[in-house]
Amino acid sequence: PEKLEAGALEVIRRLTDNGFEAYMVGGCVRDKCLGRKVKDYDIATAARPEQVQSLFKRTIPTGLQHGTVTVLIDRVPYEVTTFRKEGDYEGYRRPSEVEYIDSLHEDLQRRDFTMNAMALDRYGRLIDPFGGQDDLREKRLRCVGCAEERFREDALRMLRCLRFAAEYGLEPEPETWSALLRMKPLLGHIAMERVQAELLRMLAGANPNLAVELLCKSGVLEHTKLKLRLASIAEGKPWPDVETLPDELHRLAYMYIRIGATPEQAEADMRHLACSKQQTDNVRLMVAAYEQLRHEAVETAMPDGEDLPEVREWLKRQWLLAAIRYGRDTLRSVHKLYSLEAERTHSQSVWAAEGRVWLDAMPVSEVSELAVSGQALLRKFAPAKPGPWLGRLLAALLEDTALGKLLNEPESLLKAAEAYYEQIRENP
Ligand code: ATP
Ligand code: MG
Repeated sequence: PEKLEAGALEVIRRLTDNGFEAYMVGGCVRDKCLGRKVKDYDIATAARPEQVQSLFKRTIPTGLQHGTVTVLIDRVPYEVTTFRKEGDYEGYRRPSEVEYIDSLHEDLQRRDFTMNAMALDRYGRLIDPFGGQDDLREKRLRCVGCAEERFREDALRMLRCLRFAAEYGLEPEPETWSALLRMKPLLGHIAMERVQAELLRMLAGANPNLAVELLCKSGVLEHTKLKLRLASIAEGKPWPDVETLPDELHRLAYMYIRIGATPEQAEADMRHLACSKQQTDNVRLMVAAYEQLRHEAVETAMPDGEDLPEVREWLKRQWLLAAIRYGRDTLRSVHKLYSLEAERTHSQSVWAAEGRVWLDAMPVSEVSELAVSGQALLRKFAPAKPGPWLGRLLAALLEDTALGKLLNEPESLLKAAEAYYEQIRENP
C-alpha cells in the first residue's frame, strides 16, 4: 500500500516539477480521511492529456475523450485526468463533451458528493472547498451544490448515493435525501447494466443490511427502466441480518425468496439486470431448491413441538434428493438461507439444524461419483443397447447410495443393479 501511494506521489511530483498543478482526488482522498485502505489513486492535473503523455515513459490513452491518461509506474496504473468541466448533460447520464479548465476548484465542483470532492497536494495538504471532511465526521452524505440539479444531470448519482451511504454508514443529509425521492423517476433513463453494478456492489459491500434498508426506504428500484420483481422489496420487511450470508448472490436469492418470487421470476429479473448467465443460474437454482423444499415441508409439517422420527427421516430424504437434483453446493447455499429464515421466524427447522451435517456426510451426489460407470453397466448387461434404461438405472443407484442404503463400491452396486435392471425391463 505504501508503494501504491509512493507511485501516486511520484506522478504528482513529476507534474508539478514541470509546472502543472496536480493532486490526488476523489475516492482515494475520501478513503484516506476515513482511515480506510485505498484501492486506487486518481490524480487530477492542469496538464493536458498530450502533456501528460510526453512527461512519462509508459502511458496508455485509456480515456482521451474525457481527458484521462493512464500512467504506469512500476507496472502499477494511475489514472491522470485533466481538470475539466462537464458540458451539457445528455439523457440524464454523463455529459456529451468535456471542457478542460485550469482550476482545481471547478474540477471538484463537478463531482457528486462532498466527500468525493476533496483533493490532496504533494505535501499532504487537504483541499476541501465543500466541507467533505466535516460531513464525513458527522456521518453525512451530501451532494456538491444543489442536490436536485445534480441528480437531474446524472441520475446514476442517486444509486451511488445509496451505495456510498450503505458502504460508509452515512446518512444522506435531508436536502440530498428529499431530492433523491423527487428525482428517482429519472432512474428510468439509466442502463440496466449500471443498475446491476450498483445493486450488486451495495449487496457485496460493508453493510448489506443498510443497503437493503435504503433500497426499501427509497423505493428506487420501482423506477428502473425494466419492471423488476425486486421493486416490491419493501414487502419483505422486516429484514433479518443478511450480512451473515456469504456473498451478494446469496443475499439476492434471499431477497427473491422473501418477496415470494418464483425461480422463473428471479431469472427474468436477473436477465433484465444483464447479470451473467452464471450469476443468474446460481440464484435461480438457490430459489428453485428452496421453494421445492419449502413446498415439501409444508405438505408434511411437523406437528408443533413434536419430533417424529419418521417425519425426520422423510425430511432428510427430501433434502438429499434435492442435493442430487440441484447439486450439493446449491444445497449448502440453501442451508444458509434456511438458517437465516429460521432465525427470522424464531422457528425450529430440521433442515437448518441438520442440513449441513447431512450434506457433508452424503457419500455421493452425482452419477460421476458412483463407483460404477455407465460403461461398466453396459458390459454387465450386454448385449443390451444403451437407452433410457441406463439413465434410470444409474439414477436409482445414485439415490440409494446417496441415502446410505447402498455402499459406493463396485460389488454392491453391480449386485443392486441386477434387481433394478429386472424391474426396469418389466416396467419400461
Ligand atoms: P469507488 O471506486 O470506491 O466506487 P470512487 O469515489 O473512487 O469510489 P469512482 O466511480 O471511481 O468512485 O469515481 C472517482 C471519482 O469521480 C469520484 O470520487 C467522484 O469524485 C467522481 N465521480 C464518479 N462518478 C461520478 C458521477 N456520476 N458524478 C459526479 N462525479 C463522479
Ligand atoms: Mg474509484
